[in-house]
Amino acid sequence: MKNILFIISLLITYNIFSQTFNTETYYGDELCQTAQNALISKSSFVSSFKPNNTFSDENAYIALDKILFQIGASRDRFIIQSCSNINNALAVQLGGVRYILYDPNFIEEVANDVDNSSWGQMFILAHEVGHHINNHSLDLLIAEDLESETKHKQRQQELDADIFAAFVIARLGGDYEQIVSVIKTISDNENDQKSTHPNLDKRLDAVKVGYNRGVSNNSQNFYNPTNLQTAEEYFNRALLNELKGNYDKAIYDYTKAINIDPFYNNAIYRRGITKREKEDYFGSIKDLTKLSDIYTDMYKPYSEIGLNYYKIGDYNSAVSFLTISIEKKDKAIKSGDFNNFNESDAENYHLTYYNRGQAYLKLRMYDEAYNDFSYVIYLQEGFDKAYSQISQIYILRNEYYQALSWINKAIEYNSTNSKNYFNRAVILDLLHQLYLDDYDDSWGQKDKIEYLKNSFNFKISEIENYNLAIKYNKNYAIAFRSRGIAYEFIADRISSNDEFLNFYLEISDEFKTFYNYSVKNNNESAYSFYNISACNDWSIAVSLGNVESEKWISEDCN
Ligand SMILES: [Zn+2]
Repeated sequence: MKNILFIISLLITYNIFSQTFNTETYYGDELCQTAQNALISKSSFVSSFKPNNTFSDENAYIALDKILFQIGASRDRFIIQSCSNINNALAVQLGGVRYILYDPNFIEEVANDVDNSSWGQMFILAHEVGHHINNHSLDLLIAEDLESETKHKQRQQELDADIFAAFVIARLGGDYEQIVSVIKTISDNENDQKSTHPNLDKRLDAVKVGYNRGVSNNSQNFYNPTNLQTAEEYFNRALLNELKGNYDKAIYDYTKAINIDPFYNNAIYRRGITKREKEDYFGSIKDLTKLSDIYTDMYKPYSEIGLNYYKIGDYNSAVSFLTISIEKKDKAIKSGDFNNFNESDAENYHLTYYNRGQAYLKLRMYDEAYNDFSYVIYLQEGFDKAYSQISQIYILRNEYYQALSWINKAIEYNSTNSKNYFNRAVILDLLHQLYLDDYDDSWGQKDKIEYLKNSFNFKISEIENYNLAIKYNKNYAIAFRSRGIAYEFIADRISSNDEFLNFYLEISDEFKTFYNYSVKNNNESAYSFYNISACNDWSIAVSLGNVESEKWISEDCN
């Protein structure tokens, strides 16, 4: 404990007096002295081993470059310093510079290998780099020596550094066994609760994880494309990869383009969009915000930021950004700013309103949502989804006939959208329920029959709409599930009694047609035919991932 405080207080002192610090000046010698004073030499490492000087500073820098190259980090603020007699390796930050102190004897000893291919030495160095890359703030050692209060946290940091180091070694094509041998030299399996360093098994697990990560990264053919000259060339290759769905490659090349030309608006914009494709919504927002900072009149970043917030589930922010986008777009149109707004933008103008309408729906601001969807239709008459959303608003207001008329319009404009048919089936089910309630409430025999007939007819239409939904989407699990329920309803109504069947055949012409079409060519009774149909639908629904149908199969099907 005392020792750590000693080092920290010295580091703070250095910090205060080194405000003009740059990497030209270094405090390596003083750091060595500090470390030497602070570290308690471990007797097991004091030996008569004679170093053969293969691990010089020069070699260490070559190794450092190899390590940093694997993760694309800069060597700028790294300094490697050899310190004799510290019997350890150590990562220290001073004035923003990342020092790695090492004892050449120690490294030679713990990483000694017969054929001298030095993966063990590389591992120790990479472990210290790992502390820096992970921003572990204090002085950290490859082997245990210091006392500390926060041992649990330190042990975790050691494992992180081990994972990082093993990952790098695997990426470099290094030898796993040599890593294992280093770990075995510096740790054992004694209880590590009071130690700054994890025990042997934990460290072996860590290096295994890191190494496997590095190996699988290799086998995925890490993107190593040919170098291009201009930002445009990078942009074009990125766009091609984006279109092919190779998002990581696209982001890599967009970044190259942006590095060459930091004001390349299309590259920043597309990288933001590509990040959203990868569901990196905050990364996407960051890019698009940067774009909106550079080009303040541009409306596009705002609508995309709004969409990101929608995806995250922050609907209030989604509404505000989409609103800003609309305002900026209107301004661009008014002032004839055709760089910002051209014909191809006009084609998609309705989408901003549509997305804002969706966000309003989530916020249960139905009037605002209704206005936006209406405006979408004004801008783009044939956009069926807007009709369908207005239909949803009417469902939420319990106005089912209005809902039906709007979903009918949606189907008019898009007769192959399975979702529209499913939505219509849902509305028909609600209307069916409405008549069933009327039936329960009514007293007159004539009324009762009329309500029953209407209710039954809606159920038949409901099934026909599920048929259409399934016709246009063969994998529509929820449509199979719901059609199964509708079949079951009919089976329960007619029951196994022919009198009921005949009654419904008599009151409903729709049912008669439906019955003739579905049952007549089968040997089954109508009752068992509709039951079997229900069970078939549920088992398809289950095979498509609908879990709740499982229960009904076990209860009602055999
Ligand atoms: Zn360490």
